[in-house]
Amino acid sequence: MAVAKPIVSISPYVRHVPQGIELEEIETIAQNASEMLVNVRESMLAPHPRKRAPVFTTSQVASLCRIDRKKVNYYWEKPDLQLPQGTVLPRTREFTLAEAREWVTKVGPFPKRPPGVKGKKIAIGNFKGGVSKTTTAETLAQGLSLFGRSVLLVDLDPQASLSALNGILADSEVSEDQTILPLIYGEQSSLEYAVQPTYWDGIDLIPASAALFSAEFFLPFKQSKDRGFKFWDVLNTGLEPLLDKYDVVIIDTPPALSYVTINAFMAADGLIVPTPPSALDYASSTQFWSLFTDLARSMKTIVPDLNKRFDFIHVLLAKVDASQAATHAVREWINRTYERLVLPIEIPTTTVTQSASTEFGTVYDISKYEGSNKTYQRAREAYDRFAEMIDQEIFALWSAELEAR
Ligand code: ADP
Ligand code: MG
Repeated sequence: MAVAKPIVSISPYVRHVPQGIELEEIETIAQNASEMLVNVRESMLAPHPRKRAPVFTTSQVASLCRIDRKKVNYYWEKPDLQLPQGTVLPRTREFTLAEAREWVTKVGPFPKRPPGVKGKKIAIGNFKGGVSKTTTAETLAQGLSLFGRSVLLVDLDPQASLSALNGILADSEVSEDQTILPLIYGEQSSLEYAVQPTYWDGIDLIPASAALFSAEFFLPFKQSKDRGFKFWDVLNTGLEPLLDKYDVVIIDTPPALSYVTINAFMAADGLIVPTPPSALDYASSTQFWSLFTDLARSMKTIVPDLNKRFDFIHVLLAKVDASQAATHAVREWINRTYERLVLPIEIPTTTVTQSASTEFGTVYDISKYEGSNKTYQRAREAYDRFAEMIDQEIFALWSAELEAR
């Protein structure tokens, strides 16, 4: 990069001079950044250039199936079940994620989705960034997959953090055609084309890239040309053919009331709003609800016969740091404001996922946590309980649907 001439005549006061940058040079910075990210990604995930799912011990498999060790021996001697035996290592036995999920599906306590009932769509939303939307989307998918569910993640944020958590780098590895854009442009009518497997058995992904910003121009443009076009229903229509295959579709949204966010909310059966109990996050969450109200009102004006209801809306207390004095007061405000919407579970702040090697991951990515095991357990249990609550609700909805037939 060329060093620009100082723009001020030097006085003794100035020991730090600004360096001008031409607009063209921004491109060089972008290039360097994107190359660097590819490099550090390799070292962050070393020794594997790609993300790897955790492996499980026999006790961990037993615990996923909610059975004791003795029961494991009992089950794997039953030839009709054909349960995976894992890999025998010198002092232990190891199961892959796929093997562990097969155990859960065959002997775990989780009732299956009734035949003919479609998967449920859950949007994670909040117009503020950094409140844990993406982490919630990923951990919920991982938690549900460990109950044997098959999950589709949809990344709608041009920042593509959810794709990154799945080891996919938006800039260098995702072309426009692999995102929801062809659906948005009307070139495709089903999102099947965009589904990718991930490193995690039981989770597929529709990735995002920065190109998604163009949806914000295209959708209103098309609406202005074609009155019959339903700009809010594009994602819903595109997901429909996938609902037989997946038990749950989890949609991660950008921190803005954008056209794609509206699509996510209009498609969603359930909405989860992660809200950390800090004063600032609380304040902006109140704006979320008033903007959301404005949206609902204007949707009703545009489409008077719009028939939209949510099966559930939850406020999830996230990144809860009990050691902060303000936490308790703000938690109280949140409870008083949102009352029954607030889930009776909260996700603690945890440093487990904050070391460089695991920042592209979640508590579920860690096979063996070397630190304070208690911290890990606390976070893991919170995420497990959260996933279980959502799973129970989904199953209740499936059962109600079945009954209504
Ligand atoms: P959003 O999608 O709302 O912008 P993210 O899920 O990307 O939020 O989270 C923002 C930051 O907070 C990330 O660095 C993430 O690792 C961190 N984070 C999320 N949940 C927790 C948690 N429970 N404990 C500690 N850090 C968290
Ligand atoms: Mg995010």
